[in-house]
Amino acid sequence: MSSVLSDKHFHHEAAAYEFVEARVWPNGPICPHCGGVERIGKMGGKSTRIGTYKCYQCRKPFTVKVGTVFESSHVPLHLWLQAIFLLASSKKGISSNQLHRTLGVTLKTAWFMSHRIREAMRDGSLSPLGGAGKIVEADETYIGRVQGMRKSRGPSHKMKVLSLVERGGAVRSMMVVSRPVVEKIVKANVDRESRLMTDEAPYYPRIGRYFAGHESVNHSHDEWARGSAHTNTIEGVFSIFKRGMRGIYQHCSEKHLHRYLAEFDFRYSFRVGLGFDDAQRAEVALQGIIGKRLTYRTTH
Ligand SMILES: [Zn+2]
Repeated sequence: MSSVLSDKHFHHEAAAYEFVEARVWPNGPICPHCGGVERIGKMGGKSTRIGTYKCYQCRKPFTVKVGTVFESSHVPLHLWLQAIFLLASSKKGISSNQLHRTLGVTLKTAWFMSHRIREAMRDGSLSPLGGAGKIVEADETYIGRVQGMRKSRGPSHKMKVLSLVERGGAVRSMMVVSRPVVEKIVKANVDRESRLMTDEAPYYPRIGRYFAGHESVNHSHDEWARGSAHTNTIEGVFSIFKRGMRGIYQHCSEKHLHRYLAEFDFRYSFRVGLGFDDAQRAEVALQGIIGKRLTYRTTH
């Protein structure tokens, strides 16, 4: 068995273009300028850049990169595919420094690439988690430090993260600043028919009334589980996130926290237990990048 990273599209630029083209244009190339599909020719010749097509309807050249984040970057496509794979498959993430050394790009470029990939991993779906007969756990954790805040005994100087996880399903995390925001987020992101599991935080009973059921465990009284009432799933999510943030990323400002959350949520939501291997997870991330692409610019 050869390593997944030995696949051609990770090493050869022409193969990388073919790999992306097969996903963007499953039925053949489409001109990003005029939307034409009929009169398109592939450009050959030594002086032509790899993956260049010409549309004989509007007479403009194009590649599959047009309209994607790949277009604005000078990084070869096969290195992008490597970076996507590495970020999608490394359980605790991969630092810009590591990416810089592995790919041989500058540190600044590695940083740019990884943030764009995190952006692609961001769950754009607005459909709520849970549903009838399903259980959603909600909990908060603290991480890092809010800029300009002094270290204190309690968690008040830290950034607060709220996570919602459907048991046997996906996770969604976001930074929160106040209790009313917690309530709003939980209601907006969890299906009303779900049963909600939380800890004993004083604002959950009120939020809980909105759902089909609400149970809480009293962590401050050392109660961690009572039958199906527990938040162990979310504790597991937090533990991976914290190990990654501590071990791999070290510094993270408020400004970028949502991107790291998106990255960890993404890997969890497309985990092996739900049937996704590393290559399939990378595939979903790639779709996140090319899906944001404009199929063609209208001329009128
Ligand atoms: Zn055209």
